[in-house]
Amino acid sequence: MTDIAKNLKEIGNQIEKTAKRWERQAQDVTLVAVSKKQPVEKIEAALEAGQRVFGENRVQEAQQKWPALKDRFSDIELHLIGPLQTNKAKEAVALFDVIQTVDRPKLARILAEEMKAAGKTIPVYVQVNIGEEEQKSGILPKDADAFIESCRTEHGLDVAGLMCIPPAEEQPAPFFAMLARIAARNGLEKLSMGMSGDYQIGVQFGATSVRVGTGIFGEREG
Ligand SMILES: *Cc1c(COP(=O)(O)O)cnc(C)c1O
Repeated sequence: MTDIAKNLKEIGNQIEKTAKRWERQAQDVTLVAVSKKQPVEKIEAALEAGQRVFGENRVQEAQQKWPALKDRFSDIELHLIGPLQTNKAKEAVALFDVIQTVDRPKLARILAEEMKAAGKTIPVYVQVNIGEEEQKSGILPKDADAFIESCRTEHGLDVAGLMCIPPAEEQPAPFFAMLARIAARNGLEKLSMGMSGDYQIGVQFGATSVRVGTGIFGEREG
């Protein structure tokens, strides 16, 4: 078994254990393997181990790696987990299967237009700046309800859930709990929260997807 296959198995086991302990179903938690800045050989190792859901944070980098891999391996599900510029929306709609980072009205509008033009509907998540940090993207918690509503009614987007990255220096649990509350009161089922360092906490608080990069692939290049 490769290291990557081992890591995937171990993380899968942890998710299963944590889900069970907190009265959840492990199959309700999707492991998104974050492959940004990882060499193609490592991604291939994950694919060969059976992993099919991946996350990338830059459209351009994903365009270089994924079309060829999507040709070779079936059923790949690619999530955009990084900030999206409106001038890349068309490319993002063409390549990604889920866009987790809808964070402002202009992006919502342009994504809706590009999906219409491409004749497809891609589920999106609204990114919430749950710690109200200046350097982070995401809609502020106090603006989340109105933004979700306008994504749905004004733009007709298929809003499936919420995503957040809590402040690095604080305990993530209260932020995950808050994201879950915002999702619940807006009738949203999907919660993308938890990374290599805190994915088990994400699972405890209701994550339906966790985004794990270095925990699977090791340190990133560059
Ligand atoms: C890079 C990244 C991750 C993965 O981080 P790790 O600590 O390597 O697991 C998760 N989510 C987002 C939004 C990222 O940009």
